[in-house]
Amino acid sequence: MMGEQDSDITHVSPESFQDLWETVPAPPIATLPSIPNCDGLPDPWISGQNMDILLMDSQVLADGFDEKFFELPPESPVKDFVTPPASTVPVTTDHPGAYGFQLRFQKSGTAKSVTSTYSELLNKLYCQPAKTSPVEVLLSKEPPAGAVLRATAVYKKTEHVAEVVRRCPHHQNEDAAEQRSHLIRMEGSQRALYFEDPHTKRHSVTVPYEPPQLGSEITTILLSFMCNSSCMGGMNRRPILTILTLETLEGMVLGRRCFEVRVCACPGRDRKTEEENSAKKQADKGAKKRKSAPAPDSTSARKPKMSSSTEEEDKDVFVLQVRGRKRYEMLKDINDGLELLDKDGKTKAKAVKREAPHPSSGKRLMQRGERSDSD
Ligand SMILES: [Zn+2]
Repeated sequence: MMGEQDSDITHVSPESFQDLWETVPAPPIATLPSIPNCDGLPDPWISGQNMDILLMDSQVLADGFDEKFFELPPESPVKDFVTPPASTVPVTTDHPGAYGFQLRFQKSGTAKSVTSTYSELLNKLYCQPAKTSPVEVLLSKEPPAGAVLRATAVYKKTEHVAEVVRRCPHHQNEDAAEQRSHLIRMEGSQRALYFEDPHTKRHSVTVPYEPPQLGSEITTILLSFMCNSSCMGGMNRRPILTILTLETLEGMVLGRRCFEVRVCACPGRDRKTEEENSAKKQADKGAKKRKSAPAPDSTSARKPKMSSSTEEEDKDVFVLQVRGRKRYEMLKDINDGLELLDKDGKTKAKAVKREAPHPSSGKRLMQRGERSDSD
């Protein structure tokens, strides 16, 4: 920098140097050229990188126009192609894709003796360890030759999702099989391949997709889960999901299906219990809504009200949509009062009921404001 300026002022007389020097504007620090990569980060403005992109484009053009370019199925899962199958956090959303990838489970019921049973209600498979669970694969059309089905297990909860699902040390040690650390096995196929991703260390198993046999529309794969969900040092009671993907031979995902799995001693009993608990939870949710007052800024106000005749026994919850904040606040105050008096005593509640506006006025409001857009 000094050199450049020196060369500019060498012909200037010494007397005027000081004046001239003061007129030279110092360049702001930010415009000074920095040492490339001095912070260890790649410089995004290195022209060579732009050149690479240009070269790539021209290479594509040089290859000529691919006539099959527009023949790709319109719903081709391009996104999945960009994301490698072994991403750090596996994707667990269902995606039927261009081949209409679906799963079906045999209806095994909840008898005590059942070794594997699936709950439609909870999208959850219950099975005994090391027992075969048939899973039916349904496609709407034939996938590309060499397509495979891959099964991967992943922890359901966010706080565990980073950890690889593997068998517990106890069960691993008493097994001599090469894939002894894998939780999921695919049975009945000599062509099952077991993978451990070099980066994420996640386990998966693939079998070649076989088209349905004559007269059938489904292909059945046989999954086995080799530990109990409760195994110490393994799943340790942490719920897992199984991801089944349909992939090309190169690993491009064509479709994905996901379901929860519980490996336990009594699949039938546990399924029944969990389905019942789920139903109870739904009912409790309704009851909670009745007890807790709705947030003032909620668009639709939920206001429980009592039926006129058997108010002490009536546990039903009604949703009332109210138009306008003022009206909502008013009705909420009335309801809060009624709830409070409910707690104090049934006789008092009756007395207030007569003073407060009759719930029938609420009925009229509900009809008028079917879609609440208060505020
Ligand atoms: Zn185990």
